[in-house]
Amino acid sequence: EMALHKAKENGGGSVSLYSDGDIEHAEELFGLERDLTAAVKNDEIEMYLQGQFNGRGDLIGAEALARWLHPSDGMIPPDKFVSIAERSDLIIQLDRKMLQHAASCLANWQAKDLNYTLSVNISPRYFRSKQLKAELEAMFAAANANLRGLVLEVTERLFIDDMHDVIKQMSTISKLGVQFALDDFGTGYSSLAYLQRLPIHELKIDKSFTQGLPKNQRAVSMVNMITAIARNLELRIVAEGIETSAQAEYCEDQHIIIQGYYFDRPQPQDKWNRKWLK
Ligand code: C2E
Ligand code: MG
Ligand code: MG
Ligand code: MG
Repeated sequence: EMALHKAKENGGGSVSLYSDGDIEHAEELFGLERDLTAAVKNDEIEMYLQGQFNGRGDLIGAEALARWLHPSDGMIPPDKFVSIAERSDLIIQLDRKMLQHAASCLANWQAKDLNYTLSVNISPRYFRSKQLKAELEAMFAAANANLRGLVLEVTERLFIDDMHDVIKQMSTISKLGVQFALDDFGTGYSSLAYLQRLPIHELKIDKSFTQGLPKNQRAVSMVNMITAIARNLELRIVAEGIETSAQAEYCEDQHIIIQGYYFDRPQPQDKWNRKWLK
């Protein structure tokens, strides 16, 4: 009943429109949303790290990926909970927690004189909230970390409205030394006209393009085209989803930064640090 009430509140639609399956689904969603709210508050969201490697196979940085260790349902992947969090300001709290983890991680690396970058995914809602710049400065100062190591990953969704304002804010944040990556490039609202205006430093090629490498001619064409654009705009290029030696070789030949299971799987930050910080 509670779920129905909430479904009505949130969706505004009539209850009779829901089939039994939808009701079960809605209950599952609201259950997850409630548990997720508690999980974010109780620090049950963990930061996993996945390494990024240059064309010589040297580690150059990592991406921070959220993992939710649910007390009864076990590990829930972000594909399931990020979209739930994005329905409300919960995503702001989640992304903020990840930035706090990232700040302490970068402080640790920087204290060891390691200049790896750490990339953190930021949802449009947090970016648009206008708190981001002040919070970044406060969090990194508190953790004694330099913002120069931080890369913020945004997607094309961020640029759907008020692009002018978004660009202005990105430029302001960039002045702190923070870099921006355009994640999942080519899967969303992609326009070459806007790409040249964005104050970004990196393009990430989505795994839907890289997974066909090196045999699928269409995949090769797409990756080559994206790479050519990135080179012309003097952007760093990262390929996601690199799983095979043939894919890795292709990227190495093209001087594309590699992120994928072939070199490194996402793992808890302490485990990752033990593996990579010799
Ligand atoms: P993303 O930012 O595009 O992250 C890359 C995804 O590809 C990750 O999925 C990673 O585990 C996966 N991946 C990496 N290498 C391989 C590979 O070789 N093969 C395959 N098949 N997959 C690979 P993950 O960790 O499940 O995250 C999914 C998405 O959830 C992320 O996509 C990102 O959009 C979102 N996300 C994750 N953490 C956060 C967060 O802290 N905040 C926000 N707002 N979103 C997050
Ligand atoms: Mg990402
Ligand atoms: Mg991506
Ligand atoms: Mg992706």
